[in-house]
Amino acid sequence: MLEVHQFPCLSDNYGYLLHDPVSGDTACIDTPDAEAYLREAGHKGWQITQIWNTHWHPDHAGGNAAIKAATGCTVIASAAEADRTAAVDRFVSPGDVVQLGDFEAQVIDVGGHTLGHIAYHLPGASMAFVGDSLFALGCGRMFEGTPEQFWTSLSRLKALPAETLVYCAHEYTASNARFAVHADPDNADLASYAARVAALRAEGKPTVPTTLAREFKANPFLRADDPAMQARWGHPGDAVATFAALRGAKDTF
Ligand code: ZN
Ligand code: FE
Repeated sequence: MLEVHQFPCLSDNYGYLLHDPVSGDTACIDTPDAEAYLREAGHKGWQITQIWNTHWHPDHAGGNAAIKAATGCTVIASAAEADRTAAVDRFVSPGDVVQLGDFEAQVIDVGGHTLGHIAYHLPGASMAFVGDSLFALGCGRMFEGTPEQFWTSLSRLKALPAETLVYCAHEYTASNARFAVHADPDNADLASYAARVAALRAEGKPTVPTTLAREFKANPFLRADDPAMQARWGHPGDAVATFAALRGAKDTF
């Protein structure tokens, strides 16, 4: 089985090292902080062989060059963001497959936060690394895309198996929970989820990874196709408009 080593980076990012004990391959999922990644890999005794970038933002790709210089690893990034991502060896597009040992990761188009944002889904390990597209109880800010593009991206994640573990790139869940409860106040699953998040954060514990199953029931942005949410937000029958209204409201909440 694959091992995931998760550690805090910068102010609220998570660093992830994904390790296959059979082949010895280790992938950095994004590179918010090169020193932290090199130190954590050293503590684990793992040799970094790859970097998988989700999108071009500096808190995701800023450590590429330094980690590559220190390890000689292969850097993989979104072809659609080739002009803005440093030190890349292989550009990938949605539908491509990347490999860690015998495990395959499917590249999924999750554009919206940035235009060329990609996620890595490992069906054989029931995990997905989603960067800043989907968060626990939230989604990324829509810096570059349109509501239609972002909703389509979230729909691709919604189509993955419910048991998939979702590794998001930030610990934003407590703040997301406050907006989610405002957006969807009668949701009992959300209320118990939000209480659990508050308890975990009070103990300084991570709320990530989450599961798609949990997000399906409680994440307002994944529920823009739910008739009750659409009615509450004034856009019956229109998931894109409901998503746009939710995203806009969260930006100023
Ligand atoms: Zn970002
Ligand atoms: Fe980020």
